[in-house]
Amino acid sequence: MPLTPAPAPDRTRSDSEGRAGGGGIAPPQADAARSGAAADPARHPRVVIVGGGFGGLSAAQALDGAAVEVLLLDEQNHHCFQPLLYQAATAALSTADIAWPIRHILSRQRNATVLMARVYGVDLDRGLVRSTAGELAFDWLVLATGSTHSYFGHEAWEKFAPSLKTVDDALRVRGRVLTAFERAETAQTDEQRRRLLTFAIVGGGPTGVELAGALAELAHRTLPGEFQRSRPASARILLVEAGPRLLPAFPETLASDAVRRLERMGVEVRTGAAVEAIDEDALVVDGARIEAGGAILWAAGVRASPAAAWIGAQGDRSGRVSVEPDLSLAGRPNVFVVGDTAAVRDAAGIETPGLAAAAKQMGRHAGRTIRARVQGRPAPGPFRYRDYGALATIGRNAAIASVGRLRLTGFLGWLFWSVVHIYFLIGLRSRLFVAASWAWIYLTDQRGARIILRRDRGPGV
Ligand SMILES: Cc1cc2nc3c(=O)[nH]c(=O)nc-3n(C[C@H](O)[C@H](O)[C@H](O)COP(=O)(O)OP(=O)(O)OC[C@H]3O[C@@H](n4cnc5c(N)ncnc54)[C@H](O)[C@@H]3O)c2cc1C
Repeated sequence: MPLTPAPAPDRTRSDSEGRAGGGGIAPPQADAARSGAAADPARHPRVVIVGGGFGGLSAAQALDGAAVEVLLLDEQNHHCFQPLLYQAATAALSTADIAWPIRHILSRQRNATVLMARVYGVDLDRGLVRSTAGELAFDWLVLATGSTHSYFGHEAWEKFAPSLKTVDDALRVRGRVLTAFERAETAQTDEQRRRLLTFAIVGGGPTGVELAGALAELAHRTLPGEFQRSRPASARILLVEAGPRLLPAFPETLASDAVRRLERMGVEVRTGAAVEAIDEDALVVDGARIEAGGAILWAAGVRASPAAAWIGAQGDRSGRVSVEPDLSLAGRPNVFVVGDTAAVRDAAGIETPGLAAAAKQMGRHAGRTIRARVQGRPAPGPFRYRDYGALATIGRNAAIASVGRLRLTGFLGWLFWSVVHIYFLIGLRSRLFVAASWAWIYLTDQRGARIILRRDRGPGV
């Protein structure tokens, strides 16, 4: 007998009972997998998880061994370790080092099934997820579809200033950046060359800072010996931030340290500088046009996935769904929203940040809550975010770290950053490869993943 009230609304339960009896509300062809299972009267409740990122995977893993059927849907076949995307985009790491097939990650979890499918809607009343794999019935639902970049209403800029969110994005950015150096080598005039060796990064948060540092090292340390006609070391790298300072989530002393280091590496940092326009060759900052034919990269602004629209919820300013303290949807105790798509405040009113660690904690919490309720045990209660601090690298051997009262900068910060990131990578192979790549870059300045794919070259090449 459950100790807590059965969480699934009556409708969902009768839905599944109906199907078990062969006369379900959803047409059987809507969910072939489920109609097979429906022949088994003792079938386990189904938990559909949408998104195999940090939140969705943690939710699935928290349900390992539970008497539920876990069905995880993702439009990609892989889980991407976004904190290291900038390294793939700047040729330090190969994409296989930072992304892993979701079905492999969950291959030992016997109650889990993975489907590569895009979700485009949810019918809460009928307990159905609409996806490219058909309509899939759920008893419990976890929405963990993350976020994407926001161009603050200037969607047309996306074409000229790509952002970094997926493995595809990283390959595209890498192609564009490496192609710019190749084009500079074949440029006819100094002016053309200067234009092609100007790179601008918009957004001074951790991603912008990390990208700027890595680009500066690529241009100023890795490439110079290999180009005979152009001078990669003369590349201009601009980091443009509209706010008054870089890295607003870090203490001011650490942010200032990052600025000093970036400037020493040859990055031009411009704060309080709003971007007014972007086109194929240039950006306009505070009324001045800056030709940046190398690449313009967007690292500003985040918008949640469209999950709010699927469930008819009013998203907040960033499109995130406000959830109850246990991460469930108001009035729908069997539906959870976690990670970057969720807006959640703790008892002190502090908002949980859009970080991988937060998404993992939320996913785990939702998974544990479902597990407890299915087993008739008391649920864990309200979600509490454990803040493990903030980290950002500046180049190949410096980082800033703010963890509780601990403040680290320079090489010590970088060592700490490296250990943390290697720990969170998935699998021994990736850990070894990434550690070896970093050691190699540290010792030789060489970056191995410098292949330009034809489709990523950009226009005109
Ligand atoms: C470049 C970059 C650097 C970052 N650096 C850091 C860092 O250093 N430290 C840190 O803590 N955080 C960092 N973050 C933030 C962190 O990656 C996110 O907070 C975290 O990924 C959120 O996890 P999530 O599970 O909510 O979403 P994600 O991890 O984004 O996962 C969402 C998943 O949902 C899938 N999906 C989306 N829509 C659909 C759909 N319609 N149908 C099916 N599947 C769908 C996606 O394919 C994806 O696999 C960084 C983010 C970026 C982009």
